Amino acid sequence: MAITGQLDLASESSRDDWKKIQIAYFSMEIAVAPNMPTYSGGLGVLAGDTLRSAADTGLPLVAVTLLHRKGYFHQHLNTDGVQTEEDEPWKPETLLQPLEPLAAITIQGRPVMVRAWRTDIVGTDGHIVPVIFLDTDLDPNDIWDRQLTNHLYGGDTFYRLCQETVLGIGGIEILTALGCQPTVYHMNEGHAALLTIGLLQQQVADGNLLDATQDDLDAVRAQCVFTTHTPVPAGHDRFSLDQARQVLGEERTQALEKFGCCHDGMLNMTYVALRFSRYVNGVAMQHGRVSREMFPEYSVQAITNGVHAATWIQPSLQALLDERVSSWRRDNLYLRFAIGIAPSEIRSRHLDAKRKLIDTVRERVGVTLQEDKFTIGFARRAAAYKRADMLFSDPARLNRLAEEYGGIQIVYAGKAHPHDQVGKAIIHHVIEASAKLTSDHIRIVYLENYEWDLGAILTAGADLWLNTPRRPYEASGTSGMKAAMNGVPSLSTLDGWWIEGCIEGATGWAIVESEDEVQEAESLYDKLENEILPLYYHYPDRWAEIMRMAMAINGSFFNTHRMLYQYVTNAYFPGDAPLRRKFQPELVLTR
Ligand SMILES: *Cc1c(COP(=O)(O)O)cnc(C)c1O
Repeated sequence: MAITGQLDLASESSRDDWKKIQIAYFSMEIAVAPNMPTYSGGLGVLAGDTLRSAADTGLPLVAVTLLHRKGYFHQHLNTDGVQTEEDEPWKPETLLQPLEPLAAITIQGRPVMVRAWRTDIVGTDGHIVPVIFLDTDLDPNDIWDRQLTNHLYGGDTFYRLCQETVLGIGGIEILTALGCQPTVYHMNEGHAALLTIGLLQQQVADGNLLDATQDDLDAVRAQCVFTTHTPVPAGHDRFSLDQARQVLGEERTQALEKFGCCHDGMLNMTYVALRFSRYVNGVAMQHGRVSREMFPEYSVQAITNGVHAATWIQPSLQALLDERVSSWRRDNLYLRFAIGIAPSEIRSRHLDAKRKLIDTVRERVGVTLQEDKFTIGFARRAAAYKRADMLFSDPARLNRLAEEYGGIQIVYAGKAHPHDQVGKAIIHHVIEASAKLTSDHIRIVYLENYEWDLGAILTAGADLWLNTPRRPYEASGTSGMKAAMNGVPSLSTLDGWWIEGCIEGATGWAIVESEDEVQEAESLYDKLENEILPLYYHYPDRWAEIMRMAMAINGSFFNTHRMLYQYVTNAYFPGDAPLRRKFQPELVLTR
């Protein structure tokens, strides 16, 4: 298989250029740029980072997602910690180029026209990864259909199934209309699973899906790769068969049933993807294991997530790396050589990021944090399993630690899904408890509207990144990887990526797991008291060593360049030696 060089997609895209594309990456959400609210959190950020690495490494890949005209919501928090939400509309017309061809798909027996917009992600050497946004807001469409690409994770399951139909089936139709014929289709989570039905429709040349032969199924399967992100059965995307019949129609629903995509009387998108994929993986080693237990009849591999270094490393540290570690942008594996930088230099660059965080807190909530005080960052979706309030389980002890060592500052952020009452209650509780705890020694703030920019400021500017998920609910987690690249160690329960990333006392610390949550919290306090606070306040040089190890050891591995290289060699083109060589890190090739 020949791999193409530069794709000339920047000019008026010709069919020839679209033909060079070999991989189509489908994701319900993609964080393309900070000013485009087309993502809700970790899944979308991962998708965006994957594409940025694909652009850096010259992979011939196109991404497909929905337009989400009304964005993901903007979070407001009142002084009592009550969350309210507002649409975050944006103007695709000003940021994207319209594409010519339209596609027609059938939803609820009606024709729905789909159009496409595009933007380009440009890599370090100029390689382009086009991102296609599907849009149903077109004149000929029914008023209801026109709103299908408005709200990311909005509406009910009926709305969601319609959206997934647009993404999967509409996406395949648009790629075909563009003349794009990838050999690999990558489903980033089950939301994109209906692309398999789009492919099967083409395979049977618009004959009846129920007549599909084993060869037809195998032909679809040979093209599909599926990444699951969900660690618990309840998290998988499911729809009632009634709903499936209504939205997809009788033929497609019967076909899905016949091909084993239903489970417990429901259409289960994870099973759709599993049935039709030749390669399936979880997003960390433990998550692979957990997924194999959930789906014992399938072979599930693991490729641990990463983050895109040049997106998440803060500017002043980037400047230092540019001086000392050439080529780290093109190949994130070179971050290993951060081990040659003096720890004091890393510490001084970190202070720049900490000042930026302090400025941000002052501007947003009018609280002044101090740059010489130990600062903990905690930011993530407010979900029960993440236990954002574990730090508050023994306020007296926290207070004593802060007093004894010279102070603790904590910066929180995170949204709860609009329908998640438990998540909202957690935010409320954290804010309420914070107000009670605040003293001369403890400052706690909760910043509203956690999104890309705030994520970057927090993960780079904190001294310690805290994560307290209940095992095994965190499939991977990626914010701690951003922190590591910025020289910020983590303190976390051993879940998701941290099982692989934690070298105790070198890259961070593990909270010891226990059946008893009180005991787990004790371990959190023990680590702060016996290891972390003494090091930070009394042995700053040893602390800086830890910062450097977090960067060199974890930054060089938990990045999307390495992750994508693993997708290329294990999932996209296994056994294809020339292609593998193309993406072999240069580190290995040079003598
Ligand atoms: C990185 C990131 C996430 C994902 O982080 P987790 O550790 O998986 O919670 C979510 N939201 C934003 C805005 C991010 O930048």
